[in-house]
Amino acid sequence: MIEQERIEHIKAGIDLKTYIEQTTGASFKKNGKGYVCRCPFPDHEDKTPSFIVTPQENLFHCFGCNRGGDIIQFDRMYFNLDFKEAVGRLSPSGSATGQADNRSPLPVKKKPSDLQKTTALTVKERKLLARVHAYYQHTLTEDPAGMDYLKNQRGIHDNQSVTDFSAGYANGTLLNILPEDDEIIKSLKTIGILNNKGKEIFYNCVVFPLYDINGSIVNLYGRNIDDNCNIKHLYLPGKRTGLVNRQAARRSQTLILTESIIDALTLYDQGFKNVMPIYGVNGLIDDHLFFFNRKIKEAYLVFDADDAGRRAAASVSLQLKEKEILPYIVELPVKDVNIYFNRHTPEEFETLLKQVNPKALEQSDKINNRKQSLYQETDQGFIVGYGDRQYQIKGIQRGDTQLKTTIKASADVQGNLPFELTTIDLYSSRSRIWFAKLCADLFKASEELIREDIGKLLTHVENYNPKEKKTDTPKATQEEINLAMKFLKNPDMIEELLSDLITMGVIGELINKVVCYLAATSRKLLKPVSVLIQSRSSAANPPCKTRYYP
Ligand code: ZN
Repeated sequence: MIEQERIEHIKAGIDLKTYIEQTTGASFKKNGKGYVCRCPFPDHEDKTPSFIVTPQENLFHCFGCNRGGDIIQFDRMYFNLDFKEAVGRLSPSGSATGQADNRSPLPVKKKPSDLQKTTALTVKERKLLARVHAYYQHTLTEDPAGMDYLKNQRGIHDNQSVTDFSAGYANGTLLNILPEDDEIIKSLKTIGILNNKGKEIFYNCVVFPLYDINGSIVNLYGRNIDDNCNIKHLYLPGKRTGLVNRQAARRSQTLILTESIIDALTLYDQGFKNVMPIYGVNGLIDDHLFFFNRKIKEAYLVFDADDAGRRAAASVSLQLKEKEILPYIVELPVKDVNIYFNRHTPEEFETLLKQVNPKALEQSDKINNRKQSLYQETDQGFIVGYGDRQYQIKGIQRGDTQLKTTIKASADVQGNLPFELTTIDLYSSRSRIWFAKLCADLFKASEELIREDIGKLLTHVENYNPKEKKTDTPKATQEEINLAMKFLKNPDMIEELLSDLITMGVIGELINKVVCYLAATSRKLLKPVSVLIQSRSSAANPPCKTRYYP
């Protein structure tokens, strides 16, 4: 049994790039944060360099022959060794079999901490950063430009999504509210909120905070709302730390990873809450991997559908496999996930996930939230529910140009929860929009969603056809039936009826009395009888005005 510690030491301790150079004679070129060369495996004739090494993770991958892994896997494949042999070959003391070889010493990998200075923020600086972020959040509500960008340019519908991601907007007014305190200005420069000249670096950006494990803000990401601007993506200087939507990983064993924060926000807004962004194609950081430890079992990589995105997906997949997380790479039919939802629905995205993993369980809350959850007829109308929203409909009045109804909206229309109650004309678009606003506040949902509800309600109301009420008619006995038949077959029925009415004290109005009686006893007969009586009366008597209400 080979000790785990020795294996870890080999994987992390030997510099893979230098090792491959020494072993195979490959010559690497810098490519982003990694290195690329022609594939060193003899059976792969690599015309364009497709073999990459990512020094941060000390892993390799070839896009041509699809080989990939860590240094031990490299040795096994390259020298055709078993695991134990490879580990032996890579052990500093020589080979496992005790045979020393005259190779050059194994290249030692520098620790990431040596490569990148961590400039962790002090407690005071963190507090200051949190205050700056709170101000940016406030500015988002004051200055419409930031929200306008998120809604109209990036298609984020739900204010709640923006709130959940704690988005803010830097419109340059931070400088106006800063106290004249050199200490604070100095700290803001140290953090990187202000540049050396004292200007805001996130000026004109929508801003998102990155949190550490304890929930403090440790970084900010800014996306310039001007697409023509040279630098669109900004972070605070120093080592990239912090996570966005950490709650996602707590909720679930599966996670959707996106290439950018706005992509993650888009999926979140579409109801896919288990989503977390990395920060660009090389943006999977230690915090991610630490956070995924043991909890996350599967990850869907929804990166841009371009070469950089595909390379990033392959490299991230490798790192996830190392952590025993099963990666699924989702190929988008358009450039990125934000563009995808311009034309596609959450249902279609679910299908996309199912294509890479038929057992995919990731679902959009939005779909469930839109599904009809209840339909129940009542005495005066019906109750219909969508997600956890219920609407009780009564008093429907139909007209050619009007469809008035009384609507009660509540999470439980038959309970004592807060509600909205109003009578509106569903054929009036102004009324519908007004009512959607009220209900959006009540349900803390987007107006778009409620307008969709009201659209469905309208169809329900139009199609509503109250069932004939079943009343418990007392059953007549045979004796009663015989009596009734005798009465009905009596040729002098009308005369006898009238004489009864006179006896009761109703004098005159002979014809009306008959009509009244028949109307009260038989609605269906009303029309023919009244016509009959009218024709009789017009022949014998002056015309008689019979009015009745069907
Ligand atoms: Zn290859």
